[in-house]
Amino acid sequence: MPLYDIIIIGSGPAGLTAAIYATRSNLKTLVIAGAVAGGQLMITTDVENYPGFPKGVQGPELMELWRQQTERFNAEIVDDNVTKVDFTKRPFSVWSSDAMYQARAIIIATGANAKYLGLPNEERLKGRGVSACAVCDGFFFKGLDVVVVGGGDTAMEDSLYLSKMCKSVTVIHRRHEFRASKIMQDRLFKTHNVKVVWDSDVIDVLGDAKVEGVRIRNAKTGQISDLKVGGLFLAIGHAPATEILRDQLKLDKGYVVLRPHDGFSTATSVDGVFAAGDVHDFRYRQAVTAAGFGTMAALDAERWLQQSGA
Ligand code: NAP
Repeated sequence: MPLYDIIIIGSGPAGLTAAIYATRSNLKTLVIAGAVAGGQLMITTDVENYPGFPKGVQGPELMELWRQQTERFNAEIVDDNVTKVDFTKRPFSVWSSDAMYQARAIIIATGANAKYLGLPNEERLKGRGVSACAVCDGFFFKGLDVVVVGGGDTAMEDSLYLSKMCKSVTVIHRRHEFRASKIMQDRLFKTHNVKVVWDSDVIDVLGDAKVEGVRIRNAKTGQISDLKVGGLFLAIGHAPATEILRDQLKLDKGYVVLRPHDGFSTATSVDGVFAAGDVHDFRYRQAVTAAGFGTMAALDAERWLQQSGA
């Protein structure tokens, strides 16, 4: 079994950027990309704020280009999930579904996953009208009335996307103010087949074999009403993908805690293990900041390998 200098877990902007930097430093690098590689940009349409693309770029296209750039420098990539890690001794060990790998340093770039409301019927009807990915599933809701839950940029983006193919989109938000950027809100308010239900929670998902409606409770009046729709899209944020790290690294609310020391800004609670992107960054959560963290983690890991002699 080869000993890698660095194993990078994750293949979104943070992971692939770390891989570009690590391989260009001649470090033997393995990327364990995840069974569904590419991270959150794979389920995004127009990316208008990634520098270098004046006309914008589609999320999946951007990730494909990113991957090609990574492969150009001979990073090894395995499209599988990590099932277990052991960071208690060196070399560090990482297991995928059918293999075990070892490395002198690790970069965690597992990102974050979509959140759901936690309603029993929402769980039951996942894939049958309940979705957290408008871009993946919107096509199946052509001509239908649908609901989007959330008030951030994702809710705006998903609603605008769905408005192009659905009969109507109702955005249900728990407060009376969106947290989304002004430009996205303006676009939403100008779209003729999108309306907003403020101060309301979805408390149940209706339907037997597929979604036929949602039950809504007004948070101010307590009034309950049903809305007939064929689809429920969740856009209520994401949770960091840190399940496999639970007893290995210090976490806070699920996010990896960084412990900067000696100039290693992306250091975690275990020496030689670094983290990059949404798995630790709950504040900025942008592709470009994740890429920046990927660069930092690769440079930190390289310097740590030199200094520690691990
Ligand atoms: P977000 O900004 O965290 O927004 C989540 C939204 O869901 C909030 O409005 C929140 O309500 C609501 N929410 C959370 N939990 C809920 C629950 N249990 N029930 C009902 N509503 C709930 O997440 P995001 O929209 O996914 O965006 C994440 C980051 O990515 C942001 O920094 C965003 O700017 C960025 N982003 C950028 C773009 C772009 O530039 N093209 C596109 C997508 C995302 P409250 O407001 O009441 O907390």
